[in-house]
Amino acid sequence: MKTSIAIIGAGIAGITLGRNLSAHADVTVFEKSRGLGGRMANRRREGFSFDHGAQYFTARSPAFRSVAEDAIKAGHAGIWPKAVHTLKADGLVTDTRPPEPRYIGLPAMSGFANGLAVELEIRKEATVARLAASGDGWVLSDNEDKDLGRFDLVISTAPAPQTIRLIPETFAGNAALKTVEMSGCFTLMIGLDAPLDPGFDAARIEDPVLSWIAVEASKPGRSEKTALTIHSRNDWAEANLERDRGEVQAEMLQSLKRLLGRDFSTAAWLDLHRWRYANVEQAVGEPFLFDDDLGLGACGDWCLGNRVEAAVESATALSERLITRLRGA
Ligand SMILES: Cc1cc2nc3c(=O)[nH]c(=O)nc-3n(C[C@H](O)[C@H](O)[C@H](O)COP(=O)(O)OP(=O)(O)OC[C@H]3O[C@@H](n4cnc5c(N)ncnc54)[C@H](O)[C@@H]3O)c2cc1C
Repeated sequence: MKTSIAIIGAGIAGITLGRNLSAHADVTVFEKSRGLGGRMANRRREGFSFDHGAQYFTARSPAFRSVAEDAIKAGHAGIWPKAVHTLKADGLVTDTRPPEPRYIGLPAMSGFANGLAVELEIRKEATVARLAASGDGWVLSDNEDKDLGRFDLVISTAPAPQTIRLIPETFAGNAALKTVEMSGCFTLMIGLDAPLDPGFDAARIEDPVLSWIAVEASKPGRSEKTALTIHSRNDWAEANLERDRGEVQAEMLQSLKRLLGRDFSTAAWLDLHRWRYANVEQAVGEPFLFDDDLGLGACGDWCLGNRVEAAVESATALSERLITRLRGA
């Protein structure tokens, strides 16, 4: 009988692990949300489409580049943006660096994960809340104590602060997990009735409150309705995490008005998302954590750095380790 493996989380790390392991084991992925992709996220409202998490990803390793290029051929990914300018209080600084391919999902950021996950067994809206030792394996249960099944090996790809809450104290990687620091982010989503050309598709922002702005309609395969996605700075989000959402939104709109000279407070659509764990401030510095005796592991961007590609690299390294173990089993 094949070894059974539970993967917690269907972000890019969980999906990469699942794809790499499914030829070697019986893999089930548990995802607490309705959609796949984790922080590679999209929100659609009133005909507006916002990629409110990761903006684009790079693929510097040949293996991941070939995954990204295959996704382009399959229609699940595209190239965007051509340039990332810098928006400052005194105007726009044009990006003159030689372009490096930057990828996005199609028809939305989550489309990349959806495309990669087609053959995986994924249980959506299934939050893993507890792991209980059972013989040589683990029994998983959800928030209502519903049994989610027994598995030989369990891997968490949830952000490190959430993995700590899930995984038993005896896990050999616990000390390393506790060194991880992650910061939050607020994302402001603005939908407009009329087209808008601010003179850029995407820009980093130098500002005490804001850090990034994207014009959604400039992306391939998106809705043509004008939508802007704006990220706060991570340090500003950390300082304002528990503040009233209306005040957070008002301060972000005020900063945008200063930068673009336009008031968006009466826009057709306004929405705010709070990411509690957006950015990796302090990574583990090892590609993954795995406890051979307990049959428990953890991986994700927080092992290596703050990027989609770091999450892929972490999951790839752990899957190689697990395949070696499965071959010896
Ligand atoms: C606002 C923002 C902007 C970003 N911009 C960029 C960018 O431009 N470029 C870039 O490369 N990276 C960017 N990133 C970072 C990038 O999104 C992450 O590095 C990457 O997506 C992490 O993937 P992951 O699979 O490790 O984690 P996640 O995507 O967080 O996946 C973890 C999954 O686990 C699920 N989960 C958690 N707990 C449980 C549980 N108990 N039971 C079941 N499921 C659970 C979650 O719902 C989630 O789907 C950005 C992130 C944010 C938030």
